[in-house]
Amino acid sequence: MKDLRKRVAYLRGLMDGLQVNTASNEGRVLGEVVSILEDMSDGMMDLYSSQDELEKYVESVDEDLSELEDQVNDEDFADDDDYIEVECPQCHDTVYFDPEILDDDDTVVEVTCPNCGAVVFSTAGDDSGGAGEGQEALVSSKTTESGIES
Ligand SMILES: [Zn+2]
Repeated sequence: MKDLRKRVAYLRGLMDGLQVNTASNEGRVLGEVVSILEDMSDGMMDLYSSQDELEKYVESVDEDLSELEDQVNDEDFADDDDYIEVECPQCHDTVYFDPEILDDDDTVVEVTCPNCGAVVFSTAGDDSGGAGEGQEALVSSKTTESGIES
């Protein structure tokens, strides 16, 4: 790009050095052509530098983004073990929820499928045998810890 500017500058110098008669028809045409070339190379130089800036900016945004992606992925993996996985009976989508929401004994907790809205897990069914069993299976790590199994 700098080379182009140098060559146009050389052309301008050549015109002056060869003492091209700028009053003649040919001289006027040549002068106009060199002037256009100067404007064009200047414009291209501006484009080049702003594109360079843009490239650097996109690069830094890309770096920030991948950093952010890494953070999000790390969090996903870290939390994976803590989540309870349930298959939705309606649409068979897999629903994940945080077992911590079950810690509140006083309120009934219902987990609904984000896909179809069906209730996939509820703490309301403590009295009915079926729901109770399902619940025990899901929170089995807790029941084994408290010694019910042994
Ligand atoms: Zn569903």
